[in-house]
Amino acid sequence: PEERLAAGRTGYALDRQHVFHSWSAQKAIEPMTVVDAAGSWIWDGEGNRILDLASQLVFTNAGHKHPKIIAAIQEQAQRLCTVAPQHANDARSEAARLITELLPDDINHVFFTNGGADANEHAVRMARLHTGRRKVFSAYRSYHGGTQLAVNLTGDPRRIPNDDDAAVVHFLPAYPYRSYFSAETQEQESERALTHLRSMLLLEGPDQVAALILESVPGTAGIYVPPVGYMQGVRELCDEFGIVFIADEVMAGFGRTGKWFAFEHFGIEPDIVTFAKGVNSGYVPLGGVAMDDAVYNTFAEKPYPGGLTYSGHPLAAAAAVANIGAMREEQMVENAAALGQELIAPRLQQMLADHPSVGDVRGLGAFWAIELVRDQQTKEPLAPYGQTHPVMNQLVASAKSQGVLPFMNMNRLHICPPLNITTQDITFGLNVIDDVLSISDQHATP
Ligand code: PLP
Repeated sequence: PEERLAAGRTGYALDRQHVFHSWSAQKAIEPMTVVDAAGSWIWDGEGNRILDLASQLVFTNAGHKHPKIIAAIQEQAQRLCTVAPQHANDARSEAARLITELLPDDINHVFFTNGGADANEHAVRMARLHTGRRKVFSAYRSYHGGTQLAVNLTGDPRRIPNDDDAAVVHFLPAYPYRSYFSAETQEQESERALTHLRSMLLLEGPDQVAALILESVPGTAGIYVPPVGYMQGVRELCDEFGIVFIADEVMAGFGRTGKWFAFEHFGIEPDIVTFAKGVNSGYVPLGGVAMDDAVYNTFAEKPYPGGLTYSGHPLAAAAAVANIGAMREEQMVENAAALGQELIAPRLQQMLADHPSVGDVRGLGAFWAIELVRDQQTKEPLAPYGQTHPVMNQLVASAKSQGVLPFMNMNRLHICPPLNITTQDITFGLNVIDDVLSISDQHATP
């Protein structure tokens, strides 16, 4: 413990002197120091043990310090720590084999990247070269990454200061709780959102559209599960107009929703699947583009104009092989499905009934959102769109002081634990969340 406290002090002081953080006004932040972790728990720089209900940034799907993943990284580091991308390497090959085995039959090849944003960049580049078209459709209320094209694809306000003319067209998503189409049922939402999308495509010229990218279940933007029929309808529109359908599974993939990939819930098959995060639980940076044979064949004879020094880095690939193996052996995907159905869903439904500040609860598997409002009738969000509110920070601070770390975005708390969290731990975490909601209740119409 003394070592942890010392590491915490040094880490914090040097961070403030030398580290530049993502998405932040540098002098306005006080980052939490993390010095150790195990399973579903982390230790902060002050010596507190905290339950990680955010799986960091929704990536430690197998939990922290999984012994099989650590052993695989150590073994790989001793054997062959790094290799250039042009060589064949057994760790990379096996990772690609395992990933494509989990995907539809006609998806047989993977281009590995360093993370999710560059996976989306390359997916769009491939779709443009494959179709000979330029425009890309993506949804408002989405997140696709922080690099230039990926942040342009993104449909949350972080896009706005970065916007350039990347030939990206945004459309309104199907979002039943805050319907843009005055829908009162899931069916109406699905039908009207598809009519809107079809109109947008026709107005933009569908023969100009290379790709449509969608998170199978949007994550950071609110874990709003598409209504019945929506994803099938999007698939049909893409087929009708010859558009490449890219499923962004960076956050929702690798068991998070209780299936290996979230698109499986909707009975569709994308043309390209992008992934990162849960593929190796984030132990070593890794992302990728898994493409179907049609896209692959475009680059069978002519070169693909793109590459990365660390494409398929052996440490990251070995971590992916061990992660997928451990998820299978320990039935983590099945566990996530049961966790959602049996423990998280009923408990969040009860919070919706008990707390006037809870407007909506939704999710699948180990992937849930609690949307906070000032009034359940008007649905006025507790923090305005694109902003936060001091109460949100109070909620998180109070949860942390009781030993629980949720994920927070705008007016939402997200519950995204490791897929192998124990019943006892998730129950403890949900008890604390239930307790802190009394703080937001004070700002809501009873
Ligand atoms: N796509 C989705 C759906 C994500 O949630 C994220 C990250 O949160 C990204 C893409 C970007 O991934 P990365 O931060 O690894 O570049």
